[in-house]
Amino acid sequence: MDEQSCRACGGGVGDLVLDLGEQPACDYFPGCDVAGPDPAYPLQMWLCSQCGLAQLVGDPTVPEEPRGTEPAALVSQAADAVRRVMAAGLLRRGGRVAEYGSPHGGSWLGLLNGCGLATAPASKPADVIIDCFGMMHAPDQSSALAERAARLADGGVLLLQYHSLDAIIRSEQWNALRHGHYAYYSTTAIVAMLARTEFSPFAAWEFDLYGGTVLLAAGRDADRPGEPDEAVRSLLARDAAAGVRDADVLTGLQTRARLHAQGLREWLVAERSAGRTVVGYGAASRAVALLRLAEADRSLLPAVIDASPAKAGLRMPGTDIPIVSPAELAKGEPDAVLLFVADLRDEVRTAFPQIEEAGGQWIDADSLGSFPVRRSGGL
Ligand SMILES: [Zn+2]
Repeated sequence: MDEQSCRACGGGVGDLVLDLGEQPACDYFPGCDVAGPDPAYPLQMWLCSQCGLAQLVGDPTVPEEPRGTEPAALVSQAADAVRRVMAAGLLRRGGRVAEYGSPHGGSWLGLLNGCGLATAPASKPADVIIDCFGMMHAPDQSSALAERAARLADGGVLLLQYHSLDAIIRSEQWNALRHGHYAYYSTTAIVAMLARTEFSPFAAWEFDLYGGTVLLAAGRDADRPGEPDEAVRSLLARDAAAGVRDADVLTGLQTRARLHAQGLREWLVAERSAGRTVVGYGAASRAVALLRLAEADRSLLPAVIDASPAKAGLRMPGTDIPIVSPAELAKGEPDAVLLFVADLRDEVRTAFPQIEEAGGQWIDADSLGSFPVRRSGGL
């Protein structure tokens, strides 16, 4: 590894906490007719000792992922979040809003316009700045935050939403690590970043999305000398208890990665030996490293279903497993559907009742390699 310097504070001291070896860019879904091997790059997470930001090492240039369909869970969380921020009195009618969105979609602008806020013209100041999973895509974290902060009007509120590192640790989500996602925020690290910009958090809300998503409201120190609310204090206390700044704690993700991949492989082999048919569901980035580490191919997993038309006819990066449309799910009667995106669970069980009616089961891929395995209808 080259000398690392922190994407947020510039510090050069830290620990390599997770190393997934060479992995294809998970944004790069090749056509089924494109022969492998696909280009692969090191995929590693580094924890800055100085500011505590967990971050991606290296910076391979990757093409844009075909925009996926937005899970219903993401859409309903956005509506819930906007309601809660509105109830807190932070969305003044007639105010200007600017959004720094995620390249994967999920805009909040329509909802905020619906609350009476006007979209601020490009690069003009805004009273509300919303960043929903946007900033994690910036290689230079320090300048990304500075850009957002500089655009905030006096007295304005900066809303940052992120999948929390505390949740990644708690739910052992080692495959949250992916190319193109440069930062894995704990509330602790983001508060330190804000402090260097002379901003402070004053309110926070938590959501179940991705196993633990935080929406943090911050303002300029000059505007809001007030104390952080109980929710912010409790997130920081939980971070401390979880050990979000402790390299040894994060290294536990490495062990989980190994057991998870081994568990998946053993399960797939056992299903094949038993003559049972299995397909995957959700061609998500987090499935890429898992399938690769498990050395899965189409003889073990003949297809991954995905609802995004942009992904049909493509294959999972680094494997020969094709991605097919949900229409294919209706044709066969798989004994098991391996679900790679737990947030889709309720949605797909409702959309495809025939799976369970025919005696098939939905299996949560994240539960393999641990006990007990989560099956539909069961736990
Ligand atoms: Zn740092």
